[in-house]
Amino acid sequence: MSEATVRYENPAPGIARIVLARADKHNAINPQMIFDTDAAFNRALKDDAVKVIILAADGKNFSAGHDIADTVENYAADMQERSPGVSGWSGFQEDATHGWYASEKEGYLESAKRWRNLAKPTICAVQGKCIAGALVFAWVCDLIIASEDAKFSDPVVTFGVSGVEWLGHPWELGARKAKEFLFTSDVWSAEEAHRLGMVNHVVPRDELQDFALDMAKKIAAKPAFALKLTKEAINKTLDLQGQANSIDAAFSLHHLCHTQNFRVFGYGMDTSNLPKVANVPETAKKG
Ligand code: ZN
Repeated sequence: MSEATVRYENPAPGIARIVLARADKHNAINPQMIFDTDAAFNRALKDDAVKVIILAADGKNFSAGHDIADTVENYAADMQERSPGVSGWSGFQEDATHGWYASEKEGYLESAKRWRNLAKPTICAVQGKCIAGALVFAWVCDLIIASEDAKFSDPVVTFGVSGVEWLGHPWELGARKAKEFLFTSDVWSAEEAHRLGMVNHVVPRDELQDFALDMAKKIAAKPAFALKLTKEAINKTLDLQGQANSIDAAFSLHHLCHTQNFRVFGYGMDTSNLPKVANVPETAKKG
């Protein structure tokens, strides 16, 4: 796991930019990218000179989602080493559901929680495809700027799973549209995501990074403590409405789906009905 999967930049005073840098793989999220993103967010958090963090991506597409040829279960030892005690969980190297659940909980769920709760404003700049696990990278940020060519989808119901590990869908889209999004696996445009309130602004592709940076500069001019407490106040509002608990509960149901697939297909799932939008191999894989 030596491949550099993200770049850390300081594009302006007070601003850090974390860039997904696997463009040749459509920025598919392998475990190294999760660990590198986690480290980059931590670096930005701990640097008092940084007031706002941008999450961006190289290439045509923001991200094709989890790299299902290279998933967290393959890195159980690293998982245990990297975040001891964070999730209060263990058993990353256990067989079957035990290790799978533990690895996904730590790798996909707890990392998303840390990024969502990070005490500095975050802005995600999304272009091209943003599929399934990539939605989590965007949703945990405070603001989302999308280019006009951005397209959002979560096709995992197609292969027998109840949405990605972080079920932000009802919170981002509203319950009724979230059901349509998941039931149909349809690909939604940036404009539709904007209409539903999931995206703050839609801008031309060649203006995306400048727009995000200008917004970051505007926010960075505000007092850091007020920004932190404003973020916390709004996140707490969502938590008091049940967001955190419902996402935890949905994660368990997600794993009930994995277990069903495990029983039916062995250690994998039926990917024969996968839509072409998903960047996945033809062969059955874990996910
Ligand atoms: Zn999963």
